[in-house]
Amino acid sequence: MGLSAFEVAKKQIDIVSKEMGLHPNLNKYLKRVERALIVTIPIKMDDGSLEMFEGYRVHHSTVRGPGKGGIRFSPEVNLDEVKALATWMTWKCSLLNLPLGGAKGGVCVDPRKLSKGELERLTRRYTSEIINIIGPDIDIPAPDVNTNAQIMAWIMDTYSMNKGRSIPGVVTGKPVEIGGSVGREPATGMGLFFNLEAICKKKNLDLKSQSIVIQGFGNVGGTIAEILFKEGCKILAVSDISGGLFYNMGLEIDKLLQWTKDGNYLKDYKDERYNIITNDELLTTECDILIPAALENQITQKNAKNVKCKVIIEGANGPITPEADKILFEKGIPVVPDILANAGGVCVSYFEYVQDIHAYFWELDRINQELKKIILTAFEEVFKISQERNISLRTAAYVIAVSRIAKAIELRGIFP
Ligand code: GLU
Repeated sequence: MGLSAFEVAKKQIDIVSKEMGLHPNLNKYLKRVERALIVTIPIKMDDGSLEMFEGYRVHHSTVRGPGKGGIRFSPEVNLDEVKALATWMTWKCSLLNLPLGGAKGGVCVDPRKLSKGELERLTRRYTSEIINIIGPDIDIPAPDVNTNAQIMAWIMDTYSMNKGRSIPGVVTGKPVEIGGSVGREPATGMGLFFNLEAICKKKNLDLKSQSIVIQGFGNVGGTIAEILFKEGCKILAVSDISGGLFYNMGLEIDKLLQWTKDGNYLKDYKDERYNIITNDELLTTECDILIPAALENQITQKNAKNVKCKVIIEGANGPITPEADKILFEKGIPVVPDILANAGGVCVSYFEYVQDIHAYFWELDRINQELKKIILTAFEEVFKISQERNISLRTAAYVIAVSRIAKAIELRGIFP
């Protein structure tokens, strides 16, 4: 058994603490979450039976502002994972210099097995159970794995009904019609793209002529696949939980997106030119750019040595373990880390939160311009530190993110 997600998160804190010479008190402080709430969600199923689900909401740090982070619905969700994901949100918001902390939530459930009514009841009951620790100035949830704008609308409505007034700023990633932001849905993919352009420039690679492999075909993997396909890149392989498809001449991404949008799995797609591959095979496929955009712990010490690409860009949170990081660094493969690579989502979530508070909405051009500016500023800072100190992009990103949190803790002091 490898390390759990939260053990990985703590190991990353140890690695950066050593690099920065962080005071042991701060190291100890950062390896704990501020609060974690475990809730039980009883749901009356359509057939009259009762099912019990477990949900979580964790605040890792609110020293720089209200908590921020998504909610995932997945059978793999557990407290350890949510603690890790909340910790990574702290670093992500800090790295972009957003006035927000790190939080995350989840329910251990396979939403594909629920009817729309059951899903709505689950979402509303979960929201009621965590109502005292969320709010526009406490903690602002957002979409994550298997959650979407409709689910955010139910959260917003449940919260608002309980408070007796409409409070759109309680969650981001809402439909545009009820206080959502234009550009939020593709924002994570857009952020990945800006990072990809930036790293290609540094490595003298012409992005359009790179071959690409993408693990995951949801909001993150699907969007970046679409953007890169439109750019003219050759996408050699993509996958979802059912498995992957490979074609050395490049997959027709537009058709695959339609296929999965219609509720189908990739492995059932019929095209005799395409080979069906496993997720494991996909990660070690020879390519120029590898984008793990599914779940945590995908590239580990077991398969890292077989990875054959020029650059990795992390669409998912935590897809590479610290042991694998070391192997990849020694192999000279740069990894644009999750807290920078996939930060476009939370960045536009921040814009949505600001727009809701001001009740004044921006146009798409402004969203994308400001997103690009924030992502590229962070990218340049990270790249510079990694060059100066000869450390990985991840450790460099952590140096910046952890320094800002450490400074905030020092300035605020320890209560009482
Ligand atoms: N779930 C996304 C993430 O992991 C977005 C979080 C947000 O927008 O608050 O970054």
